[in-house]
Amino acid sequence: MLRLYNSLGRSLQPFKPIREREVRMYTCGPTVWNYAHIGNFRTFVFEDVLRRLLEHKGFRVVQVKNITDVEDKIIKGVKQSGKPLEELTKFYTAAFMEDLDALNIERAEEYPRATEHLKEILALIRTLREKGFAYSAPDGSVYFAVSKFKDYGALSGVKLDSLKPAGRVSSDHYEEKTEAADFALWKAWDPDDGDVFWETELGKGRPGWSIECSAMSMKYLGETIDIHTGGMDLKFPHHENEIAQSEAATGKKFVNYWLHSEFLMVKGEEMHKSSGNIITFRELVAKGWEPLTIRMFLISARYRDLVDLTEAALGQARSQRAKLQEVLARLRSVSGGPASVPQSVGAFLDAFESAMDDDLNTPAAITATMGFAKELNTMIDGGTLGRKGADAALDALSRANEVLGVLDFEEEPLDPRLAKLIRLRDEARERKDFPESDRLRKELLSEGVVVEDTPRGTVWKRVRG
Ligand code: AMP
Ligand code: ZN
Repeated sequence: MLRLYNSLGRSLQPFKPIREREVRMYTCGPTVWNYAHIGNFRTFVFEDVLRRLLEHKGFRVVQVKNITDVEDKIIKGVKQSGKPLEELTKFYTAAFMEDLDALNIERAEEYPRATEHLKEILALIRTLREKGFAYSAPDGSVYFAVSKFKDYGALSGVKLDSLKPAGRVSSDHYEEKTEAADFALWKAWDPDDGDVFWETELGKGRPGWSIECSAMSMKYLGETIDIHTGGMDLKFPHHENEIAQSEAATGKKFVNYWLHSEFLMVKGEEMHKSSGNIITFRELVAKGWEPLTIRMFLISARYRDLVDLTEAALGQARSQRAKLQEVLARLRSVSGGPASVPQSVGAFLDAFESAMDDDLNTPAAITATMGFAKELNTMIDGGTLGRKGADAALDALSRANEVLGVLDFEEEPLDPRLAKLIRLRDEARERKDFPESDRLRKELLSEGVVVEDTPRGTVWKRVRG
């Protein structure tokens, strides 16, 4: 039974979807004014593992990941770059999609862009005005009146001060992070906005940030959905505002499960675009870290725990992945042997599933996988694993990888040159040319590969330094 930590209610809860075999999930997507950084991808990878786990359990997942292509930071980017909004945001959206693919993040069903949903956004603002939750400010902007929505603060714990009227914030990112305030649904045009505006029934202006997620979630997924995800920093004000806008408009619960991932840190500080300590995924790849190693590192901590980006942590992820890739290759080369499936295969799958069911405990799932790999190596070394068992083990690892997405089942086990040396040595042994087979064994050893002869033929493994 899958249990998830619901930020709404702050507790572990059994997961019960609205529909029997389908889960509807909304994921706050990137703000496309720059390349996404590795902290952003921590959150996107967590959301992907969640999606994969649900699919692994047999649910059809309908996931919407929006593209925020108009908000304060983007307008700043437009001013700085001198490029039109659309050119800037399309460029970074394409880069984001490439990075998602490289990190083996499954595609969502929809990637709606805010600027293509002005109609839905305006309709929602109209409803909120009609129902008395929104009002116009003297400059023509439209604000949500938080005091009218009695549950405001239920998600994040921020409190409305009943003694003083709520202030008003026009910027998308509040400076004061603890106080509830009326927030902009629609921002009247300001000379700083330059060419970024729409002429609408509300006058010349642009939408506030949070309204897009309410409008697009309801358009694609319906008024009440199963899961909504994002990083911790989105809880307040963004998600609190989404709840207020959506529930005020429909009178229905907006989201059943809210899941938030913790920050990725660098040297004890949150990685944040505004702190200037960002490292993009692309920069890490350029330094020589493989995309799947980076993914392995990102899931090395549970999503609700902080994770520190260090060379050592990346190095550990690399070595764990290499061990697993090697086991895959060794399993493929097992031949003959007993026609039984070892008990550890079932035991591993049980341990793996219960770790993942425990609110996506990826470190425990990885520990179970590494332990299983070790057992498999011992069995291969001792000749106690036969073809049938190896196939069952490969199948179990592939089931686990459906969720983790860190292994490459297509990868050549060894580079072709080394594979050829192993083959030549096998042939030399078969024709009993022992001096040649010994010479080839030494040559392989100098390349870091040990070959061993077993009753079923040659097995190899890498020597570890
Ligand atoms: P943004 O493009 O800034 O809207 O962020 C995209 C996603 O990344 C959101 O879910 C954020 O909460 C998340 N995020 C931003 N910084 C970090 C970080 N350092 N660690 C984890 N998630 C982050
Ligand atoms: Zn959002």
